[in-house]
Amino acid sequence: MIPGAADYDIDLTVSDAAIDRLLSVTPADVEPATELSYCRNVFVPLTTACRYTCTYCTYYDPPGQADLLTPDEIREICQRGADAGCTEALFTFGDDPDDRYTAIYDQLSDLGHESIHEYLREACEIALEEGLLPHANPGDQTREQMATVADLNASMGVMLETTAEVQAHGGPRGKSPGQRLATLRTAGELGVPFTTGILVGVGEDWRDRAESILAIAELYERYGHIQEVIVQPVVENERWQGGSPDLATMRRVTAMARDGLPDEIAVQVPPNLAPARELTDCGVDDLGGVSPVTVDHINPEYEWPALRELEAVAEAAEVPLTERLPVYERFVESGWLPPAIAAAIDADTAAGERFRAVLDCASPVDP
Ligand code: SF4
Repeated sequence: MIPGAADYDIDLTVSDAAIDRLLSVTPADVEPATELSYCRNVFVPLTTACRYTCTYCTYYDPPGQADLLTPDEIREICQRGADAGCTEALFTFGDDPDDRYTAIYDQLSDLGHESIHEYLREACEIALEEGLLPHANPGDQTREQMATVADLNASMGVMLETTAEVQAHGGPRGKSPGQRLATLRTAGELGVPFTTGILVGVGEDWRDRAESILAIAELYERYGHIQEVIVQPVVENERWQGGSPDLATMRRVTAMARDGLPDEIAVQVPPNLAPARELTDCGVDDLGGVSPVTVDHINPEYEWPALRELEAVAEAAEVPLTERLPVYERFVESGWLPPAIAAAIDADTAAGERFRAVLDCASPVDP
């Protein structure tokens, strides 16, 4: 049983036989992708407050130091992103700020909001007004929280990271694999196209990696909502000196993800954190979100590569590089989008033209 799953009434077990089979997969067993995709986004770190203190994470700030962007700041970031041709506003949180973050709650109250999700809703409205499609990645969410914002998001996400209980999540405020799975289940129940992923090198073993991939596949089988799975290595930073997985590990786990997930789920590696050129033959489909205007606030020490570098990765793999929206096309075509998002894409505006041009994009991009 996956740790914490019973606490959230999650009936999900992965068989030993399925894990053993996936553990036998090597890069030679998977096909390289026939194209690589990416999305142009702006990072909007709504708040750096987080109730957890994962030992590898430089995103969160402790109480008293955490920021909350103002509506004007959100609008300014979104305007710059839209001007630069982005399609996605990537809203990030830590997990729910807890009651230690009194300054954040005072700021929310001054802005007329009782919760961070209420404020996220306002932020999504601003993004849509400025011509971007929201994709919120606000950590674990209850059903009520996700329902507060789901109708204003093209897609949402949370990293499962691992189904194992690891020390890196430990301590008095540790996050639980069961809670993450519950968030993935909630997204399925609410019909939200969803991004998730595994974090490699935080203390999990190979069986844990296989179990994590298969747990995601099982939830997808039930709900059909997972659009992509990120295979992300942990990286050294000021809080984590525990090392990073080597290339052989990343190649094997990427191939396992490709093999263990249905073909329609994209396998993504973030090229600012992983050696993307050496992984493309392991079944990588997507290079993630790249931002021409903001740094990656979750891993600020690792700058996003320029779009030309993504082209170089695709050239080395001898496949075309295509731009995509923050929601994958198959969800657009099959009616998964909430009305506000469908209307934004259909609108007879500059933003609508940009979104439709990306949907029609079948040729190599002009970076
Ligand atoms: S990894 Fe996520 S949940 Fe953990 S401390 Fe960082 S922001 Fe919070």
